[in-house]
Amino acid sequence: MAENEIFTRDVLIKYLNESDKEKIKELTERAYKVKVDNIGTKVYLRGLIELSNICSKDCYYCGIRQSNTKVERYELTDEQVMEAAEFAWRSKYGSLVLQAGERCGRRYISKVTRLVKNIKELTGGELGITLSLGEQSKDVYKEWFDAGAHRYLLRIESSNKELYAKIHPKNTRHSWDVRVRAIKDLIDVGFQTGTGVMIGLPYQTTENLADDLLFIKEIGVHMVGMGPYLKHSDTPLGSIADEHPSLDLTLKMVALLRLMLPKINIAATTAMQVIDPYGREKAVMAGANIIMPNMTITEVRKNYQIYENKPGVKDDASVSKSKLEQNLKEMNIEIGWNEWGDSRAFKG
Ligand code: SAM
Repeated sequence: MAENEIFTRDVLIKYLNESDKEKIKELTERAYKVKVDNIGTKVYLRGLIELSNICSKDCYYCGIRQSNTKVERYELTDEQVMEAAEFAWRSKYGSLVLQAGERCGRRYISKVTRLVKNIKELTGGELGITLSLGEQSKDVYKEWFDAGAHRYLLRIESSNKELYAKIHPKNTRHSWDVRVRAIKDLIDVGFQTGTGVMIGLPYQTTENLADDLLFIKEIGVHMVGMGPYLKHSDTPLGSIADEHPSLDLTLKMVALLRLMLPKINIAATTAMQVIDPYGREKAVMAGANIIMPNMTITEVRKNYQIYENKPGVKDDASVSKSKLEQNLKEMNIEIGWNEWGDSRAFKG
C-alpha cells in the first residue's frame, strides 16, 4: 500500500472487493494509525436518547415506518428526557444525541427547542447536544441551533439516486434531492454535520459503496455514522434480504473513510454490534472514534426497533454503560470522559 495513495473510485472498489483477511487487517491497521496521528486514540461518547418513534415517513427498510401498525408509538415526556440528560452529564459522557422518527408539527418543534435549552441550562452548557431528527426546514434547523444544539446527523442512506428511489416510496416526502438539500442547509446553519449510509442494502453494489465514500467526501460533512443494513420483517424490504452484510465490509468502509478524511469524527454504530458483539470496538480499531451508548428508558426501548435483534433492549442506561465500559477496557480503548470530542474537520 502506497503511503500517499489517492482513493479514486477504482481504488475504492478494489479495496471493497478485497477478501484476503491479511490485506483487510493491513488496511484497518493503517486506518487506525492515521486516526491516531491525526486525532489521537480516544473514543468520545454520546448518550443516545430515542425521543419518539412516531414517524411521518415510510422508508421501506425501517421498523418504525409510519405504516408499521405493529409498533406501539411513544413520545418521551420532558421529565423523562431531562432525567436521561442528567444521567449522561453525571456519567461524564460529554454529549448526548436526541433521535426520533421524523415529524414537523409546531408543538413538536417547540418541544425540541425547549428540551435543548433546558438541557443546556441544567448542565451549565457542559453537555454537548447532537440532534438526529430528520429533514426539517432551514428555519427549524436554525431555531434548534440557536437553542444550543451544535451537531446534527442526517444520513443520506445511499448516495445513489436510483437506489434511494428503490428503498423509499415514490413521493415528495421521500426525495433524495430534498435530503441532500437538508444536509447542505445544516452545514450552512453552522452545525457540525454528519451523514452516512447503510451498508449491504438490497440492490446495493460495491460500486454504490465506493460512490458513497466519494459523496461523503465531496459534500464536506464533519462526521459520519454508517452501519450495516439489518432487516426488519415488518417492512417491505424485510422479505428480500435475509443475510447480514459481513462486518468486514463495514470495517473496510470505516477504514477507507478514515484514510480519505483523517480528521472527521466517525461513529462505531450499534448495528455493528448486532453482527458481532465486539463490532463497535473493532470499528474503533479500524478508525472510528465515536460511540453512542443507548440511554433510552427500558420501558420504550422495545418500541424503537429500527431493525431486528437490536442489542440491549432489556437493559437500562447504567447496564448499557457498564457493558460498553467493560468491552472498551478489554480492548484497551481509552474514553474521553467529560469531553465534547468535536470533529477536528470542523472549522466553525
Ligand atoms: N428520522 C431521522 C432520520 O431520518 O434521520 C432519524 C431516525 S432514523 C430511524 C435513524 C437511522 O436509522 C436512519 O438514518 C437509518 O440509516 C437507520 N435505519 C433505519 N432502518 C434501518 C435498518 N433496517 N438497518 C440499519 N439501519 C437502519
